[in-house]
Amino acid sequence: MKSIPFLSFDEINSQIEEDVFKEFESFYHSKRYILGDRLLKFEKDYAGFSNTKHAIGVNNGLNAIYLSLLALGIGQGDEVILPSNTFIASVLAVTYTGATPVFSEPNPDTHNICPKKIQEVITNKTKAILPVHLYGQSCEMDKIMSVAKVNRLFVVEDNAQAQGATCNGVKTGSFGDLSATSFYPGKNLGAFGDAGAVTTDDDTLSEKIRMLRNYGSLKKYHNEVVGFNARLDELQAGFLSIKLRLIDQWSEERNKIAGWYNQYLKSDVVIKPQLADGCTSVYHLYVIRHPERDRLQHYLEGKGVATLIHYPIPPHLQKAYAKLGYQRGDFPIAEKLANEVLSLPLFIGMKEEQVAYICNQINKFPHGKV
Ligand SMILES: *Cc1c(COP(=O)(O)O)cnc(C)c1O
Repeated sequence: MKSIPFLSFDEINSQIEEDVFKEFESFYHSKRYILGDRLLKFEKDYAGFSNTKHAIGVNNGLNAIYLSLLALGIGQGDEVILPSNTFIASVLAVTYTGATPVFSEPNPDTHNICPKKIQEVITNKTKAILPVHLYGQSCEMDKIMSVAKVNRLFVVEDNAQAQGATCNGVKTGSFGDLSATSFYPGKNLGAFGDAGAVTTDDDTLSEKIRMLRNYGSLKKYHNEVVGFNARLDELQAGFLSIKLRLIDQWSEERNKIAGWYNQYLKSDVVIKPQLADGCTSVYHLYVIRHPERDRLQHYLEGKGVATLIHYPIPPHLQKAYAKLGYQRGDFPIAEKLANEVLSLPLFIGMKEEQVAYICNQINKFPHGKV
């Protein structure tokens, strides 16, 4: 078997190639490169996909989270609850505002923040919950929304990895006061560069995000707040509208590939990802667990299978956050996951025989001491 990459754009790009080149030509001749019709169209399309009233394009996922927190007035002295096993961007967005990130341990079966444990870390400084739909699976949003409601907290979803996932039939990106997403190229809906968006049903919050992303202004040269340049450009917006037409088909294909993994991988060899009741996944990643993860990764490399680790160091142990004062042992579930998780190849166009080959190699992985 030829070696299997972790991710390949070959198939996805060939499906859209003709439309993308046509779009580029039309964009080029439009001579409108920022805040034009393409962005307005994509925002309308993406709001439609998310079942929200508004979508506001921004320049990346990190700023989508950051601007969302700012729009809610979150800052110094406030606390924001987020999962202890998330990608660093979720934490960066919180600390940019001056607020304190408060980590809550995930459910190790689903890898997602645990609604019951959120309750344990709420204080009178808590302002918001930032659930992250990790690896493509929706968090248990009904439960999280009721915790938020009872405690009068805002909810900002980090939906960078889970566009199209659902909890009890309702789409991620439509639960929170605001939801942030990323169109980084490797995400399920990926641009050809950096891009992101915020979704919301709230008119006032939508206007605030529109202002914040564009120098704090809605009307040219009238600056109402200290804003940023965090706009989504026309070219990426045009490309994203093309890809958005295929996202449901691609999510189905990702589920089919995950289904093959579930079928071929032996449960007594690795721990497979599990779905919470009522939650679906769009399988941004297919993440298994193994107590000898590093040895398994090395072994698979030798068999021509590329894998990645999402993520090897939990945020509380990152050097950048040393001043938060955490130590090893403070978040044992996140630390255990960081040592055991392994992301297997999953991309559009992946063949059943490739999945079967990978599973076959994993099922034969020799246990015990080397
Ligand atoms: C990718 C990602 C982000 C950040 O998105 P960028 O567009 O890279 O800034 C934030 N949170 C999560 C969970 C992500 O996976």
